Amino acid sequence: MLHYPYPINSKLPTAGISIFSKMSKLAAEYEAVNLAQGFPDFNPPEQLVEAFSRAMAEGFNQYAPSDGLPILRTQISQKIGQLYQVQYNPITEITITSGATQALFTAFSAFIQKGDEVILFDPSYDSYAPSIKLQGGVPVHIPLKAPDFLYDWELVERSINKRTRMIVVNSPHNPTGVVFTEGDIQQLDRLTCENGILILSDEVYEHILFDGYQHLSLSSHPRIRNKALVVSSFGKTYHTTGWKVGYVCAPAELMVEFRKAHQFTVFSVNTPAQKAYADFLSIDNSDRTLGAFYEKKRDFLIEGLKDTPFKILQPQGTYFFLADYSSISSLDDIAFTEWLCKEVGVALVPLSPFYHQNPASKLVRFCFAKKEETLLEAINRMKQL
Ligand code: PMP
Ligand code: GLN
Repeated sequence: MLHYPYPINSKLPTAGISIFSKMSKLAAEYEAVNLAQGFPDFNPPEQLVEAFSRAMAEGFNQYAPSDGLPILRTQISQKIGQLYQVQYNPITEITITSGATQALFTAFSAFIQKGDEVILFDPSYDSYAPSIKLQGGVPVHIPLKAPDFLYDWELVERSINKRTRMIVVNSPHNPTGVVFTEGDIQQLDRLTCENGILILSDEVYEHILFDGYQHLSLSSHPRIRNKALVVSSFGKTYHTTGWKVGYVCAPAELMVEFRKAHQFTVFSVNTPAQKAYADFLSIDNSDRTLGAFYEKKRDFLIEGLKDTPFKILQPQGTYFFLADYSSISSLDDIAFTEWLCKEVGVALVPLSPFYHQNPASKLVRFCFAKKEETLLEAINRMKQL
């Protein structure tokens, strides 16, 4: 056993292993059905996998340009143009990243200086706050209002001061499944109209909306898009979370700074995967039906759980929903998910790790990006509750 004998001045003294890694490990250890970490347990479209192999055979095996393969950026620009009626210049306004995680991290490292404040809405995705702290920034946590997880724009207004550099938003929202409304966007516009505050918009679930809800991308807003970095990920759209390819769109002035940090973070991203997505995007439009695909899975799981004591909060988007377990157990959410995994054989994610200040609610997150047989097995195991 090696031993480093000097004190370590940790930059993230309170961080532990991510809750997603922890629950996936526990699920494997106890052979539990894993409805915890957000990833599909089914394969991507065959044509996409074939395109990846073909790209390697055709020689797409060396560094891609740092900003991403031009053909892929052009495909993305065209797609966004069709969906959101905005023309991002593929040469200067789109960069391919190693998943959304790197896009987010690099956006913070490019724009957040020591002491800058960044507004986050809790529950918030686990990477935001640590990535801000690593830049010397200060996360300012604003809770979404229970029970419907609505934005409290008055509180946002009161929290803005001259140190506020950025607001991070995420719609559709992981883990609540709540989506932005027109009213939210108007408020965001009002609060950022005269102060240079940047907006980082995490839209990785942009294609997964239910019950007729439409995705309101911040790239489609004529003023907000001029101060926004809009992030998405192919992992969610094409069932390829392990390929780790995402992208960011932003006005050229912001992109120049983003790319300075990007080239020294990863330099460039997996070339054959980029070529595969470029080929696939040119022939596929399954993203348009992804909402319906996941809505079926959502409804299947909700229907299967209806005779259990879980109280489910219906999501408007994403492949997650929250459920209240207070009539099953008085354990806190961490202890409850450990117990459920070990004793019932189903792994879920507790909600408290998404908070700076634990709200002590009895909520857990289900992921339904799974084969019907996986969901059925989880439902059968839950029947004993
Ligand atoms: N943002 C949110 C809200 C997410 O849920 C995830 C991952 N599931 C990411 C970012 C990271 O995406 P990627 O896997 O492409 O890095
Ligand atoms: N975003 C996924 C989730 O919410 C997990 C990704 C990860 O493990 N980093 O479950």
